[in-house]
Amino acid sequence: MTNPVCQIVGFGPGCTSFLIAADRQGILPELLGRGLLIHEREGSAEALLPIGVNYDIPSNSDAADFLDGIAPDGLFGPLLDGPAARMIRMAGGRAISLQLVALLVEETRRLALEAIRRHPNSRVAYGSPVTRIGRTAGGWRLHDAQGRGVESPLAVLAAGSAPHLPDGLRRAAAGAGVPLVHSDAVLRPCDVTALLPAGARSIAVVGASHSAFSVLHKLLELYAGGDLRLTLLHTQPIRRMHRGAALARAAGERFDPATDQCPASGRIFRFQGLYTRSRLLYEQILAGQHPAIALRACDDEAAVADALRGADAVIAATGYRPNLPPLTDVRDRPLAAGRNGSAVQVGRDGQLRAADGGTLPGLLGIGLGFGRDGSGIGEPSYRGAPVGINIFQGPDGDALCARALSALQHAAGACLEKEYL
Ligand SMILES: Cc1cc2nc3c(=O)[nH]c(=O)nc-3n(C[C@H](O)[C@H](O)[C@H](O)COP(=O)(O)OP(=O)(O)OC[C@H]3O[C@@H](n4cnc5c(N)ncnc54)[C@H](O)[C@@H]3O)c2cc1C
Repeated sequence: MTNPVCQIVGFGPGCTSFLIAADRQGILPELLGRGLLIHEREGSAEALLPIGVNYDIPSNSDAADFLDGIAPDGLFGPLLDGPAARMIRMAGGRAISLQLVALLVEETRRLALEAIRRHPNSRVAYGSPVTRIGRTAGGWRLHDAQGRGVESPLAVLAAGSAPHLPDGLRRAAAGAGVPLVHSDAVLRPCDVTALLPAGARSIAVVGASHSAFSVLHKLLELYAGGDLRLTLLHTQPIRRMHRGAALARAAGERFDPATDQCPASGRIFRFQGLYTRSRLLYEQILAGQHPAIALRACDDEAAVADALRGADAVIAATGYRPNLPPLTDVRDRPLAAGRNGSAVQVGRDGQLRAADGGTLPGLLGIGLGFGRDGSGIGEPSYRGAPVGINIFQGPDGDALCARALSALQHAAGACLEKEYL
């Protein structure tokens, strides 16, 4: 295999979304022909099914969102007639189980693999964690755990994010002698009782998001009829998503039309608000229909620590942080990536930003953990990355494809004007 034109870190939904966008934009055959190398740290395709988006909860996006970006006449077109897509389509505009989405991603990976096998310059390297990414004169060199390095003009980071437990919460839980579990573990298809101390009945949940309310749901189902005491501790206000300003007003939501409305969709609190089952549970709690659940607003970490005393366990829905391998510049010196809230900052063009605001040419980011600036998606008051497979497959994927097209044109010898490549 000659040096590929493009390498991707991670074979999860971020990666498959980029491939789906590349298929829709008509550049996938060229990309595969000129060499695509996907590095995946897991050892096999089978090992990917239980991870990624495989959560035992309903989606907070509409079912149609997962199918809209797939080109019917493209390489991934057959997905639309496959079992996962048919089940998803039946749900119309409603939420669906994320396990169905995991199956759809699995089928996407299978089609991608079949296509990759037809191209001698392309391959997927399983069991290949990327440990460092170094800038070179002509692009980026990806180093793996075995000490091998491969260079390409384009590198796409799609390595997702890892569950985040804030230090203050760790200290508070340790100080109170209360076992601490991240919501990620609880929301997977699993036996939740095995994660909690035997007989745990007084459980604190920290957070105000879909994940926090999904945890409450799971615990309610699990201990139905038992003497359960759940306390939701939140340092941020709890918001609900509304499909328009009039609906938000009718629901009594307090919002600022200038900063809390998404210009792209008109939704209020598109990324900060609760959707579907989580929103309903919140409204039921407010209406007093769940006496086992108390909501407790905490001003700061000290108040959270105070509230943990006496709990049998604490489940933290405290979000995720990007899996970003260390970056180095052309002289092998550490290179700090820019941040967009808790996410890695990606410019409008899909390229990563350095901490000093400069562009890292040819280094692209997509998926959980990357926030694309200036996309116009999401309410301006939201500090973080617009997240959703529809966004990865849609506008984010399109931005990456535009960059990839430049690299492909350059590889083909076409004039690129003042491009870095
Ligand atoms: C609880 C929860 C609910 C969500 N609900 C929705 C929803 O309803 N709708 C929606 O559209 N989105 C949802 N998302 C967001 C998002 O779609 C999923 O998190 C999705 O799994 C993100 O895909 P990803 O590829 O970015 O990351 P991942 O799924 O984490 O995949 C990253 C891949 O990279 C690999 N990897 C990591 N590091 C390395 C490395 N150094 N070298 C090589 N490989 C590496 C991993 O093994 C993995 O296979 C949800 C997320 C969470 C956490």
